[in-house]
Amino acid sequence: MFIKRFITNSNTGKISLWRLGLLSAGLTAPIALVSNPVSTYLEEQSKVELSNDYFVKYRISWRHFVDKDHYLLEIEPIKRQQNNLWKEHGYRKLWSIQVKQPQIHVVRHYTPLPLEHVDSENNGIKLKVLEDGDSSGKMMLYIKKYENGEVARWMSTLPIGNEIEIRGPYIDYQFPEAPADEICLDRRFLNDGNDQVPVEALKYKPYDVNFFTGGTGIVTPLQLMLTENPFKGKIQIIHACKNYQEELSPLIPFIDLLKSKNRLQMHYFEDFKSELKNKRKLNKLIKAPFPFESLDIPSIGASSSTTIKPVVSFVVGPEGFIANVCGPKYDLNQGPITGYLDSRGWDNDTVYKLS
Ligand SMILES: Cc1cc2nc3c(=O)[nH]c(=O)nc-3n(C[C@H](O)[C@H](O)[C@H](O)COP(=O)(O)OP(=O)(O)OC[C@H]3O[C@@H](n4cnc5c(N)ncnc54)[C@H](O)[C@@H]3O)c2cc1C
Repeated sequence: MFIKRFITNSNTGKISLWRLGLLSAGLTAPIALVSNPVSTYLEEQSKVELSNDYFVKYRISWRHFVDKDHYLLEIEPIKRQQNNLWKEHGYRKLWSIQVKQPQIHVVRHYTPLPLEHVDSENNGIKLKVLEDGDSSGKMMLYIKKYENGEVARWMSTLPIGNEIEIRGPYIDYQFPEAPADEICLDRRFLNDGNDQVPVEALKYKPYDVNFFTGGTGIVTPLQLMLTENPFKGKIQIIHACKNYQEELSPLIPFIDLLKSKNRLQMHYFEDFKSELKNKRKLNKLIKAPFPFESLDIPSIGASSSTTIKPVVSFVVGPEGFIANVCGPKYDLNQGPITGYLDSRGWDNDTVYKLS
């Protein structure tokens, strides 16, 4: 009754469009005011699945200091993920995530591994590879903290259970795909420790690669070998570190199992600068690149050959390390190949610098 009287012009008895407009504006304004926070809330709640477009909340579920500079950080999503990124990317993509430091508004990349910790009886630490089909969204980060560094140092002090915000995945490199009917390599031996399982017969001849890794850069080839549907060829790692046994202790069992299955050839140097000068061991390991043939050459059964024929070299680590091995990388620009790899006949077609 009141509404009808309000919108009716008392002189003419007709409905006033002006008054109708005023009424509807008066009624909808409070709704508009409340709908803003509501839609923001709904939008925030829908940001569950890991994405490049927004940050998603994860929780620190476990941390272990490997030595004074390195630690493992297990994180899990607050809300269960639909996508299994390990299956989605497999051997085809190297990927990283970004962690946000909210107080100083900076982000840093980290390369996750498909590992989780399992409780062990004797207080030692035990890691397990996430099984095929695991969509818990768990990730293990292997991180070095620098004395003056912001994010790695900050994360090393956060309490267990604390939330962190991450986004991704960022694709750092994409490999060519094997033919669709190629088999997926099994990874169960990494958890049951059974290295006596026969080498699986691939349908097509795989190609091999080198990784030159400095410090935490080693997680990049490990991601490729530990992921669901792992890399099919052999990987040779030339690793520069200060103390291999100490820095990498929880990851060494996986490295050893991968070696025993003929998927990995691992060479580490605790004084890599000297090795780069005298090149005694390096020159025996690194020859000129082998030609990349094709992805669809039928394989002649299981290969137990230990000969490795790398067609590409990836270089990942601190700036100085990359510069010495293959010349500096200029942000997104690869820059020319110089340094050690140039001296062994490698060039921009066969070397890829990762950060
Ligand atoms: C694709 C990608 C993947 C990465 N994955 C990992 C990973 O899995 N694990 C990991 O630990 N890091 C990884 N990094 C490096 C990481 O993103 C950070 O750069 C690193 O954690 C340092 O960040 P910070 O904020 O702690 O230090 P910052 O505040 O950035 O650095 C401050 C100081 O720390 C020192 N410092 C920082 N970085 C280096 C370095 N690389 N070498 C020597 N001194 C340094 C320098 O003294 C520097 O002045 C990755 C980087 C990229 C681009």
